[in-house]
Amino acid sequence: MDLIVAKFGGTSVGDGSRIKKAAQSVVNEYMKGNQVVVVVSAVNKTTDELIGLSDEAIGAGLTDKQKAEIMAMGELTSARLFSATIESLGVKSEFIDPYNDLWPIMTDSNSLEAKIDFKTTNIKIEGIKRLVNQGIIPVVCGFLGKGPSGEITTLGRGGSDITAFLIGHCLEANEVIIVTDVDGVMSTDPNKIESARLLDEISVEEMRDLATHGAQVLHPHALKYKDPLISAKIINFAHGDLTSKGTRIVGPYEGEMLKCVSLYKNPISLIAIVGEAMVKKVGLFAGLTGCLADEDINIFGISAGQNSMTAFVDKSDSNKAYHLLHQFVVENDVLSSLSLGRDTAMITFVSPDIIDTPGIISDITEPLRKNDINIVEIISSQTAIVLFVDWKDGEQARDLVNEVLE
Ligand code: ASP
Ligand code: MG
Repeated sequence: MDLIVAKFGGTSVGDGSRIKKAAQSVVNEYMKGNQVVVVVSAVNKTTDELIGLSDEAIGAGLTDKQKAEIMAMGELTSARLFSATIESLGVKSEFIDPYNDLWPIMTDSNSLEAKIDFKTTNIKIEGIKRLVNQGIIPVVCGFLGKGPSGEITTLGRGGSDITAFLIGHCLEANEVIIVTDVDGVMSTDPNKIESARLLDEISVEEMRDLATHGAQVLHPHALKYKDPLISAKIINFAHGDLTSKGTRIVGPYEGEMLKCVSLYKNPISLIAIVGEAMVKKVGLFAGLTGCLADEDINIFGISAGQNSMTAFVDKSDSNKAYHLLHQFVVENDVLSSLSLGRDTAMITFVSPDIIDTPGIISDITEPLRKNDINIVEIISSQTAIVLFVDWKDGEQARDLVNEVLE
């Protein structure tokens, strides 16, 4: 017996027959002996329409609190519709909205981009668990939260995905299924590149970067709550079948926790190459990475400036890499020289908060400055910040950065 959280996006409940098809797919899983919790978005473009109406009627005078309450009508309605449809198919169901005592998702008082109070939510989830164990299918409003004074809040546009993964996490569900209007995740935008193909599988890390870079399939913050043990997938509503394949979302990988700070075990050597107007020369990166790859040398990072490129390699590979790159430099007319630099410690800070926390880099670097630790290089991406400091400072720097995380 599996516990499944199935989230239906706006299009997948876009009209009466779609709602019926969706409810039937839930009932089918239930009949097989599985437990199902439904999370539902507002029907079609209801949220946009409600915003449009209030803009026209009220305009700038609309408060955030009023706006949240008006937008919430979308999910308040769809949850009732969905739940009643399940009952019409002969299975007990209950809609769960923020007015219900069993409502689990508690937030701060920010009406439009509310922050989730995970601890409280994790306790309150018991109510939903109890319903499920009684053989009832709960239908939970996506996107909504409940603030400190009992007021309705929202998790930000597209927030139903967050609801689904949050509930999946708290319930320790076996699977979270995102039912949407595409077959899954494509290798790129099929409207831009025709040969784009559907991916069978994508990792949480890749998916998160993709979502932040504009792919609309999933809210970028939803995967914060993706547990490695929970399977997850994105499927097309058109199949009317929750067992459809779509794209599986795997991970986060063992050891790569959602939030962590780690110090790489060996020193990392920096090899710097200098030359004239290197930014204008084609193929330098390819040349550098190619000659190391040929000898199976892993590159931990690369940084580049106008007149230099630096490769980061494990100290045990550094001599070999140094000789290979020397050959590359003498054979290339724009490159003039290279040097094997000092040994550094590599500290990796991984957190999904990097994408939306202003000042997070200074939070990390400030304690290092106070302790007189020099940062040799810093590389940052959507989900990781990698710092290189002198090898002797490694452990202290790791501990300081770790404090930021806690
Ligand atoms: N209905 C909300 C929106 O349109 C939330 C969601 O669909 O995820 O933004
Ligand atoms: Mg969406």
